[in-house]
Amino acid sequence: MQDYEYFLSKISSIKGIGKKTTQLFLKKKILNIFDLLWHAPISKIETSKTVNIDQLQIGKTQSIQLVPKKYNFPRIRNLPNRVNCLSSEKKIDCIFFNSFEGYIKKILPLDQEIIIYGKVGFYKGKYQITNPKLVSETEDGNIKDINTYSLTEGLTASKYNKTIEIIFKNMPVLKEWHNAEILNYFNNVSWDQSIRKIHSEEIENLQNSDYLRRLIFDEIISNFLISSEIRKKIKKIKKKEKIFDPNICQKYLKKFKFILTNDQIKAMKEINNDLKSKQRMFRLLQGDVGSGKTIIALIAALNVIKSGFQVALMVPTEILAKQHYNFASDLFGKDISIELLTGKTEYKQKKSTLENIKQNKIKLIIGTHALFQKKVDYKNLGLIIIDEQHKFGVRQRKELSDKGGNNCDVLVMSATPIPRTMIMTIYGDMDVTLIKEKPKNRKAITTYSKLETKVDEIIKFCKKEISSGNQIFWVCPLIEKSQKLDHQSAVEKSKFLEKYFKNKIGLIHGSMEKDEKNKVLDDFLNKKIDVLVSTTVIEVGIDFPNANVIIIENANKYGLSQLHQLRGRVGRGDKQSTCILMFKSNLSENAKKRINILKSSNDGFEISEQDMVLRGYGDVLGFKQSGLKKFKLADPILHKDLFILAEKEVKKIELKDKQIGEYYKLLKLYDRASILNDII
Ligand code: ADP
Ligand code: MG
Repeated sequence: MQDYEYFLSKISSIKGIGKKTTQLFLKKKILNIFDLLWHAPISKIETSKTVNIDQLQIGKTQSIQLVPKKYNFPRIRNLPNRVNCLSSEKKIDCIFFNSFEGYIKKILPLDQEIIIYGKVGFYKGKYQITNPKLVSETEDGNIKDINTYSLTEGLTASKYNKTIEIIFKNMPVLKEWHNAEILNYFNNVSWDQSIRKIHSEEIENLQNSDYLRRLIFDEIISNFLISSEIRKKIKKIKKKEKIFDPNICQKYLKKFKFILTNDQIKAMKEINNDLKSKQRMFRLLQGDVGSGKTIIALIAALNVIKSGFQVALMVPTEILAKQHYNFASDLFGKDISIELLTGKTEYKQKKSTLENIKQNKIKLIIGTHALFQKKVDYKNLGLIIIDEQHKFGVRQRKELSDKGGNNCDVLVMSATPIPRTMIMTIYGDMDVTLIKEKPKNRKAITTYSKLETKVDEIIKFCKKEISSGNQIFWVCPLIEKSQKLDHQSAVEKSKFLEKYFKNKIGLIHGSMEKDEKNKVLDDFLNKKIDVLVSTTVIEVGIDFPNANVIIIENANKYGLSQLHQLRGRVGRGDKQSTCILMFKSNLSENAKKRINILKSSNDGFEISEQDMVLRGYGDVLGFKQSGLKKFKLADPILHKDLFILAEKEVKKIELKDKQIGEYYKLLKLYDRASILNDII
């Protein structure tokens, strides 16, 4: 048995852990011993050290001696139960959310001196302890400190602590995976020492310690190395190179009124080189909204088709598929046979399309994820293009690259600019091309913020714009958690606006039928309607050059990057465009800062960088929603140096084409998605 295998053994193999506890751990996504160790304590409560009321620190969990004086149990929902207490003659409250009165009376009996612990807060001039717990004495009359983990119901802290103790007793010491230079950087602390440390001391106090930093570095580099291994593997597969004349695209480019930007030309060249090489392309084309990625993708498609292959272009929504289909059909005319395939394509049509794909009669297939169902049988797929797929994880991308077969190149496009430290984190498995430059005819979008109560002014503004022949997007409040409510609010909003823009309002939301949606979009494109009311379904990729105003309601619900993307729906033509962000109430200082970033910049990369600093990286990229890569300890803002160090180290390993050696273990331990099995 390899030494690391101990850490991969199931939780249930630990003494004293039965079926029930295993299930509870499972809820926390803790499957094996490594998961459990990695699930570091949130905080350690020094219950043995009772503090004086003057030593309380807001936000900390502390223990204090007090005397409960009076119960307040308001019978109003959402109001917490409150117990007024005294500590050293000073007033302090204990508050309880979701606790029964009986329980509260039991742990806080009136007029008795007790010791409790809990999170310290401050409200209306008084300290308060939220959901306090009683500190109990052990049999020998002492008080033991408690490590609190973020536990699920039914899993007690003492069970947790005991389990960790057993593991520490039994675990083998792993052979070191880092080289001397890296180890030196962390003053030679070992993984074993470090992992023990985070279970015995509060993470907060370890922030600058070598122990924690080493673990953070391990987390980062394992992530980068996994991506790097995938990339190496993809590159090793030899493909049949594409053979085409790169100048044939000129004939089509001439159709446009504009010339390509320098960044577009550079992107085109990089992609062409990939296509012509014997190594498979696995490339990300990242460019801000409106930077003109579609044309680059279609030229790549053209070149691949000219060298005898089929191309599949996948997008996240039907609407976008249709638009790309129209765009490509206009561009290539009869020169290329193009077909649309989505989940909603009618049975008969689908049947013939599938047959034609199989017979190689269709060269360019544009559609949604329906393109990759089993029954789609490509004759000779040479390129897969995925548009607007910033929400794909490493695993999904890898599956995709496997799907096309060895001769198939992969181009992924994303309009979500991300900070530099994140590119390697998220797209380490790919080569990356950035388009930073916007087409020259673009005018900056003017961005305003307005209180909802000023809706009259906004309507007046819209009327003026419409009278000059422009069109308006009206994005309805995003209602988290409930799609149904989302749609409802959009319906109501369109009714409200109908009063002001009679017969000129169109409505789109996620649960409408495809035909209905398309009709509305067509009406908007053909200027039969002036205002398109929608939920965020318009967020991705759609191009309406005539729309130059976008109103976004409840704007504080969105991340900056998302707002920037929504805003990018306008300002695509050469008109002066406006984005109005609506808010329910006055903005907090932090919200003001964020909005100012949006107002002062139209550069998605810059916006994401600044937003990351303000909000932390998790929120910026919508990671939370997408379930994409999450670090447990590492933070690209706080640990930028470690990200850069890890990137350098991985590049060194790649360059020398060195075997990853002892890192193998690290990867085995950290491979959350278990994608490594078939790689190393
Ligand atoms: P995105 O990168 O967001 O997918 P699109 O490819 O949809 O952007 O392009 C947005 C708009 O800009 C389209 O109307 C497209 O025709 C136009 N466009 C593309 N490249 C240029 C260019 N070099 N100069 C001017 N307009 C361009
Ligand atoms: Mg696009």
